[in-house]
Amino acid sequence: MPTTNSERMVQEQIIARGIKDKKVLEAMLHVQREKFVPLDLSKKAYDDCPLSIGYGQTISQPYIVAFMTEAALLHKDAKVLEIGTGSGYQAAILAHICKEVYSIEVVEPLGNGAKQQLAALGYDNLCIKVGDGHHGWAEKAPFDAILVTAAPEKNISVLMEQLKEGGRLIIPIGKSSQELMRFTKGRGGVKEESLLPVRFVPMVKGNLS
Ligand code: SAH
Repeated sequence: MPTTNSERMVQEQIIARGIKDKKVLEAMLHVQREKFVPLDLSKKAYDDCPLSIGYGQTISQPYIVAFMTEAALLHKDAKVLEIGTGSGYQAAILAHICKEVYSIEVVEPLGNGAKQQLAALGYDNLCIKVGDGHHGWAEKAPFDAILVTAAPEKNISVLMEQLKEGGRLIIPIGKSSQELMRFTKGRGGVKEESLLPVRFVPMVKGNLS
């Protein structure tokens, strides 16, 4: 029987909906979601929904975090880029599983807040920068996987270029109706898979701090 809030969340929202990757389940059990939501929402931290983190932004629903992480097919030696740090929760899950995590946030106070919180929690294998994620992070490329947690407004070829061969780009595509896609970079071209209907905030351009 699940006893903690995390155990209940993983059992009822994550395993029940078909997520199987043990590394993902272990990370979701370990990382305390309440550390990434505003204090006045801590009672709702394990609810089955996105929550407001200020600046018109949200921390994603736990199931979506688990789904995207599983879809990225990660291993312990992976180097991963996240676009849209937000609260830092998804970054913490990635850092629990992978060797190196890079994350970009366009809203300066959110990026700085996540950086502080993740350092306070002891994560030393992740690096956050404030900037426009449309450009990716060329100096740190190539990546085994790139996870984009906001819907891009323009073409994503820059991100494809920053993937290793065999690398996966997990990204919501579309405006009013969006589809979570997995693009896998192969020697002979790109494999495209449509995974799940989703609703993410649009990616914005430039610095909004
Ligand atoms: N992954 C986050 C949730 C992200 S919500 C979490 O675990 O909490 C989407 C985030 O993308 C928001 O914080 C938003 O400010 C950010 N964002 C929007 N446009 C962006 C851009 N162009 N570059 C980087 N981040 C962006």
